[in-house]
Amino acid sequence: MNYIIMDLEWNQGNEHNTNPQIPFEVIEIGAIKLNSDKRMTDEFNELIKPVVYKELHRITSKLIHLEMQELEKGKPFKEIAEKFISWCGEDYIFCTWGPLDLTELQRNMRYYEMEPLAEGPFAFLDVQKLFSIAFEDSKSRRSLEYAVDFLNLEKDIPFHRAFSDAYYTAKVLNCITPEVEKMVSYDIFTTPKTREEEVYVVFDKYAKYISREFEDKTEAMMDREVASTRCYLCKKSLKKKIKWFTPNGKHYYCVSYCNEHGYMKGKIRIRKSENDKVYVVKTLKLISEEDVVKIRSRKEHASEIRRQKRKQEKKSNLKLYGIKNGAEKSNFLPHFYCYITTKCPIFQDL
Ligand SMILES: [Zn+2]
Repeated sequence: MNYIIMDLEWNQGNEHNTNPQIPFEVIEIGAIKLNSDKRMTDEFNELIKPVVYKELHRITSKLIHLEMQELEKGKPFKEIAEKFISWCGEDYIFCTWGPLDLTELQRNMRYYEMEPLAEGPFAFLDVQKLFSIAFEDSKSRRSLEYAVDFLNLEKDIPFHRAFSDAYYTAKVLNCITPEVEKMVSYDIFTTPKTREEEVYVVFDKYAKYISREFEDKTEAMMDREVASTRCYLCKKSLKKKIKWFTPNGKHYYCVSYCNEHGYMKGKIRIRKSENDKVYVVKTLKLISEEDVVKIRSRKEHASEIRRQKRKQEKKSNLKLYGIKNGAEKSNFLPHFYCYITTKCPIFQDL
């Protein structure tokens, strides 16, 4: 299998002129092909003539030192993208610095009504993430130049052009061990459409599930597969010790228990798909008893906040009611006001 290390440069519109179908217009594709021994076998380097944004945004021109006159000599996106995809060949994995390049490539392809890169989610290597896993804390995300400095790699060409960034990304990838390389990422530009297309992968320390699309998060959270927690080691269905709860409406947590393997944390992230529906990314991970205590107190904190919010809402509803009905101007109304806040069953339920 080959590694296709790809980097894009793109331009964007200004505040008054942005096309939401293509917020970032790709203006350069650079790539390096490595064989399975990670030796360089080929390179790709093409400029694209901009059609949507004909002025270089100040950020773009500052960053990549390109002039519009130079870009005018480029070829149309569709032609270059087709050439690039056929250059990639058959058996390969994309490698990029961060996940954004693959998204923007596909968004540009969709804009030009090209066939999608894949029918559903596909694995790729996010070298920025792998660098963090291999050399830092797994969570930080560094600049490419930081990684090159950190690894004492020779800086023989300038940064911030598509080809040079692909070249340095390839150099960093060469310092990543096969063990760390197993931590693949998934591009989800095209979400799974059916249950069969859903993704389920088991890594060394956790398992990941990517669901099909749902209309909204309520429908997603009601789905049996989404809400289930199966031990990813022994495949047994687990009983929940802490049921799914959310501190912010975007992330949900739960804790289950496997008799054989111990406590398992579930985390669900609700994501918006490209067509404004939602899908979920669920991870399951073995945790310690101390972690369970932390999650439990997080749940209590979240319910406390919800309780206070409800109380606040109740107060402001009453205030609104009072103002609407002239409560503040009347002598009778304070008594009535007092009655409905303490006794009236309708308001007790608010
Ligand atoms: Zn188990």
